[in-house]
Amino acid sequence: MHYAALASGSKGNCHAFCDGERTLLLDAGLSLKQVRLRMESVGLDHRTVRAVALTHEHSDHIGAVGVMLRNTDWVFLATPDTKSAVERIHGIEIPGHRWIPLRAGFAVDWCGWRVHPFTLPHDATDPVAYRVEVKGFNAAVVTDLGHPTALVADHCQDLDLLVLEANHDVDMLREGEYPPPLKARILSRVGHLSNVSMSELLAAVLSPRLRSVVMAHLSEQNNDPELVRVVAAEVLRGWQTSLHLAHQRDPIRPEATRSLAAS
Ligand SMILES: [Zn+2]
Ligand SMILES: [Zn+2]
Repeated sequence: MHYAALASGSKGNCHAFCDGERTLLLDAGLSLKQVRLRMESVGLDHRTVRAVALTHEHSDHIGAVGVMLRNTDWVFLATPDTKSAVERIHGIEIPGHRWIPLRAGFAVDWCGWRVHPFTLPHDATDPVAYRVEVKGFNAAVVTDLGHPTALVADHCQDLDLLVLEANHDVDMLREGEYPPPLKARILSRVGHLSNVSMSELLAAVLSPRLRSVVMAHLSEQNNDPELVRVVAAEVLRGWQTSLHLAHQRDPIRPEATRSLAAS
């Protein structure tokens, strides 16, 4: 099983899971051209993409839906409320044959994969994160949440790979140049996950099984990648878990997930 963070951050998000035959993208916050270029640059075949699962309607997660709809035959997995929000924002219609309806809390079977959306505390219409299970490989991508909930922690148990938001350092955000309403939004319980909250959630889901952790959706203004590394490494000390940072401009494909290709 292969995983790549193609882009992560407030300017666009897109993650790829590939079993060698087919690829599921999580979120459409990266242009179609960049999806193709970045997949190729990390050794994944972009022609294997079959579907895109959407988390919520914020622009950094759905910017390329219209282009993908017109220029590919990919299907979109989304809850009805997220689909409606995307259609309203982009002035498009995702036809029935291109849509797999989801409901938070209920897994669907997609080509033999188990795709399980679950609710996040975030200021969107019906935001979800995803747990993906393929042939004994379990992964979750959890970004855009204001605080860690028990429900989120429950869905992040027994993972091989966890992609987790480390959005901001609270002091950097407080002392930074964002306007006060934006600071308040990010700091709220339906905003974004701070480094401290990330470390709490990570500690709650650590297990010997967890091979790789990818820190994601880092703020370019209100966080420092080295600080994220230090905070996460402290939690991971003594565990055989590799630590990676996803980027806005460059894709990453953690080695540790490559070796799971045996599945
Ligand atoms: Zn976002
Ligand atoms: Zn968001």
